[in-house]
Amino acid sequence: MSQVLQLNADYTPMRVVGWEHAIELLLDGRASMVDALPGKYVRSERLALPWPSVIALKRYHVVRGRAKFSGKNVVVRDLGVCSYCGVAPRTSDGRIDRDALTLDHVVPRAQARDGVVFLPWSRKWVNVTSWENATTACKACNSFKADRTPAQANMTLRTYPRNPTQSDVLRMALSKVRRVPADWLAYLPNIDAVTVVGEGLAAPLRLSDAG
Ligand SMILES: [Zn+2]
Repeated sequence: MSQVLQLNADYTPMRVVGWEHAIELLLDGRASMVDALPGKYVRSERLALPWPSVIALKRYHVVRGRAKFSGKNVVVRDLGVCSYCGVAPRTSDGRIDRDALTLDHVVPRAQARDGVVFLPWSRKWVNVTSWENATTACKACNSFKADRTPAQANMTLRTYPRNPTQSDVLRMALSKVRRVPADWLAYLPNIDAVTVVGEGLAAPLRLSDAG
């Protein structure tokens, strides 16, 4: 396990960091060890430190939801649910079935002017390919909608696309972790873990989304 869950000073989950960065934070005294991997040590000439699994910052940091825009991240933000019909395709091991989902430009690219579109629901102009105009759609809904707005296609959006919240950003980071260690789950109470299969868990964990 090369990745470490970083908690804020109040133990709310913040992000996933590489173990090298976690060690740096521990040695600098900026973080403390919350959970270590049993029997495993980071060794150098001068020290042997328990291998971190979960660390917590000593001083509270205000965090902002910032994530790289990508189709994969949009699907994670939307919990792998089609924004039009509500279907939530899953693989046999309970993960989001990305192959069954597509990225939909709510106001289609064909209707963009100079790369921007007007969003009637928030009354603002945004880049056509951006968080606020991108949503998750199943293949059937996407191909039915085609180059139309939801209104033109007589389709209803279940939720308007939004900039990611801090909890979305964390879920995006977790979705990239191949196997989430079981000892992280205690610190992830508000995260929808539908994309997450814990080590040794028979079934994927389903927790409600607070964000
Ligand atoms: Zn659909």
